[in-house]
Amino acid sequence: MKTKNILQLTHSVWDYSPSETSSHMSFIELDTFLIMVDTGMDPAKTKIMREFAETKTGKNFKYVLITHHHGDHTFGTNIFKDCDIISSKSAKKILEKKVQGDYKDKEIVLPNITFEGEYEIVDGSRIVKFIETNGHTQGSSFVYLPDENVVLTGDLLFADMFPFAGDPSVNPYLWIEAFQQMIDLKPNMVIPGHGPISSIVGLKEGQKLIKEMLEFIEGKVEQNCSVKEILQSDDLPDFTKEAFEGWLKMTVEAFYKVVEEK
Ligand SMILES: [Zn+2]
Repeated sequence: MKTKNILQLTHSVWDYSPSETSSHMSFIELDTFLIMVDTGMDPAKTKIMREFAETKTGKNFKYVLITHHHGDHTFGTNIFKDCDIISSKSAKKILEKKVQGDYKDKEIVLPNITFEGEYEIVDGSRIVKFIETNGHTQGSSFVYLPDENVVLTGDLLFADMFPFAGDPSVNPYLWIEAFQQMIDLKPNMVIPGHGPISSIVGLKEGQKLIKEMLEFIEGKVEQNCSVKEILQSDDLPDFTKEAFEGWLKMTVEAFYKVVEEK
């Protein structure tokens, strides 16, 4: 990992994404301490990012914000054992289960602070808001820095790509609302969970994609189509052609379940 790829995006926000599609790790420099937002998939890289950040700013990390439970956002938590790790209550609950199962070989440090709704970190005159919306997963939350008008979306936004929308706890209805909440903030800059640095336009596109996908599935459920029939249908929205192997099937299955249970 080359530290020259850790980019300063605003006065106080820095970001790193190992490749075009892998998950972002970011940090925010406040007056007296640093905040990490998501910890990546590879602790070796997370460690390099931490050392870079603390050397560059001369400040130490105090908090880590975990936007949701997925491994590409939580596997690096063990680099921050000395910090307060914060997530929504639901994200922690799912992560606790994962640590007993799929993630049992990983050294994950569970959040020691949880919240419901909204959490605020204050440092002098500066505020960082952590807002729970659900959507991409149960417990998904985004970070908002009001004084710089920056939103860090976690995986609520996959910029310029078909999103991973196949988590068993996905809720497309709440996801659309989550987008609206972020759009209403009229951010100057949007740092997505995956994909290139984005903007309010990216949020609107992300929302449109989830909306269209959901309406498509709702229509098919109404016609009593099965998941298999939906996947084989010739009127799938065009953007589904861009989906990574397996992601489309998982998305259809997950959305189908939510629509059926509604
Ligand atoms: Zn995710």
